[in-house]
Amino acid sequence: MTDLDRIISLSRALGAPERDLVILAEGNTSIRTGPDRMLVKASGANLATAGPEDFVDVALSELIALVDVPETDDRSIAEAFSRLGAATGRRPSVEAMLHAICLHEGGASVIGHTHPVPVNALLCSEHAETLASVVIYPEQIVVLGRKALLIPYVDPGLSLARLVRDRLREHIAAQDAPPKVIYLANHGMFALGASAAEVLRITEMAVKVSRIMQAGLAIGALSPLTTHASDRIHEREDEQHRRAVLHGSEQLPAQ
Ligand SMILES: [Zn+2]
Repeated sequence: MTDLDRIISLSRALGAPERDLVILAEGNTSIRTGPDRMLVKASGANLATAGPEDFVDVALSELIALVDVPETDDRSIAEAFSRLGAATGRRPSVEAMLHAICLHEGGASVIGHTHPVPVNALLCSEHAETLASVVIYPEQIVVLGRKALLIPYVDPGLSLARLVRDRLREHIAAQDAPPKVIYLANHGMFALGASAAEVLRITEMAVKVSRIMQAGLAIGALSPLTTHASDRIHEREDEQHRRAVLHGSEQLPAQ
């Protein structure tokens, strides 16, 4: 299976109507194909029906350089971005800069960005930080880690890419590891995986955690796991075994 096959399969899985993670041309995906290259969904393409022509091959360093340019030069950055992928006739998604940062700084190999209803219900409420920081059951830690990164709402595009880059660096310095999920307030989620299968698992678990949190909040207050219990699960050998087994199942479910 080629990287292009992998990212097409993941895109169709994330876009499948029964999963209800995105509608229309919402969401996007990317995969690292070399030390400095990625395939990223083209602007306007639909995840559910994605095909080979819907992905643009771009250099990570080219996108990261745009994010690193001082804010005063935003107009020239917009022009440079519009030239990316010009040779293929397809432009990368406006969120391509975020993908480049997640692949480059977040140590991931595959990224899936979606707008699931249960996740966005929390991200569009006063409970966004709860979703990112409160651990309510063991499987949540196994798949999503102990702490996700929550980014407050800013304009999509360059401002958002810059903020994610800075907060991601802070998160890695504080937690000693990149997050499995980046939640964008009033917007959606980014799953950072080592494989396409992991991106799908992270997304599905984030949806499940969100559903349980909403139900719990509707009937009263949540009862989180203690820090001690969370740490135990994170470090326990059988949980590490379970994580390894999960990571061993790298086939995406058949469509
Ligand atoms: Zn989005």
